[in-house]
Amino acid sequence: MPLVSEPYTGATGRLMILVSVPVTDQSGLYAGYLGGTIYLEEYNSLKTVLGQHPLTGNKSYVYVVDSNGTIIYHPNKNYVNKNVRSNFYVQEVMKGKTGSLQGENSQGIDMLAGYAPTAASIGWGIISQTPVNTILEPTTELLKQSILNMIPFMIFILVFSIIFLTKIVHPIRDLALYAQNISRNKPEQIKQIPAWYFEARELKKAILVTVAHYQTRLIEAESESKRDQLTGLYNRRALDKMIEDMNQYSLILFDIDYFKNVNDQYGHLMGDQVLIYTAETILAETKNTDFCFRWGGEEFLILLPETKQEEAYFISERIRETFARTLSPIDKPITISAGVGTLYETSDYFSELLHLTDQALYEAKHSGRNTTIRAKKTPKLK
Ligand code: GH3
Ligand code: MG
Ligand code: MG
Repeated sequence: MPLVSEPYTGATGRLMILVSVPVTDQSGLYAGYLGGTIYLEEYNSLKTVLGQHPLTGNKSYVYVVDSNGTIIYHPNKNYVNKNVRSNFYVQEVMKGKTGSLQGENSQGIDMLAGYAPTAASIGWGIISQTPVNTILEPTTELLKQSILNMIPFMIFILVFSIIFLTKIVHPIRDLALYAQNISRNKPEQIKQIPAWYFEARELKKAILVTVAHYQTRLIEAESESKRDQLTGLYNRRALDKMIEDMNQYSLILFDIDYFKNVNDQYGHLMGDQVLIYTAETILAETKNTDFCFRWGGEEFLILLPETKQEEAYFISERIRETFARTLSPIDKPITISAGVGTLYETSDYFSELLHLTDQALYEAKHSGRNTTIRAKKTPKLK
């Protein structure tokens, strides 16, 4: 039968094993044997097959044990001919088992091992061991390399994100500042805010619509606050701003005569109708460039820009006469008493001018009503 010897030291002192097969003749009779030796400590056929681990160079190794657990091949010559039967893998492989597992080798290094037996007739076991590290090392290296490769890309993403986010935030921030300025009454140009995406565009639109709405309401409210509710004429609040921009003007200040009687005889509602009629009459009797005010209860003021006192007096008289001959809502005419004053002719100052014109009106009342009196210029006090 074929035979593999245990390792032995030959006549030349070299460690070897003998592999022999019987030779028979044609009729099947034993005729001798063919034997060959493998020098275990020298370059041999086992080394050719197992000496180079393809993946991990010299950190991994493969060794071969015979059926007694004696190492017959090991890349490190010192291990050859040692019996390692106590080794777990060796025991397993000697039982004819094939397997793989992780564990420490004789030097306490964490190893991955695989083992397999040869054909039963030979009874060897082949064990391959690789440090866990050498398996994982390339992975770690690969990871490092991947991270390094990703850095430029990550920087690009970061820069891109910052630019993109800024572009997104920019219109929102501008709109917020704009809104803040509205509440502080410092509105700026909203049209220049770049609302390049849907949300910002809608927000901008909403703000524009709201601002426009409230600006209109504000203008309306402002003009309403300068109007008398009953007659629609200007009220006192409107006057200051108007005379600010005027070079010169005259005032006609008039009061309805015995208006209390109208209320007493015809009732308050009819009194209101007479006030409305009075307003309509003076609007019809004056030019578009003149301004009519309801100055008090039944007291009216007409502001005539660029008008001398004589001209204003003439207009006042014409209006007075119109009232005196026109039927009012109470089916008879009303009469008015008026004072006429003119800036620079009567006084250089509005407040004094108004006071003197009021005095003229008072005089008109006392001189029998239904008349116009020119305000008297008083010598200027230094
Ligand atoms: P005089 O000729 O001296 O001006 O006499 P008068 O009766 O017109 O003057 P007086 O100041 O005694 O009376 C003014 C009246 O005007 C008293 C007040 O009830 C009335 N009046 C003031 N405002 C209104 C108003 O909005 N509607 C109505 N219906 N009456 C008003
Ligand atoms: Mg009156
Ligand atoms: Mg009065």
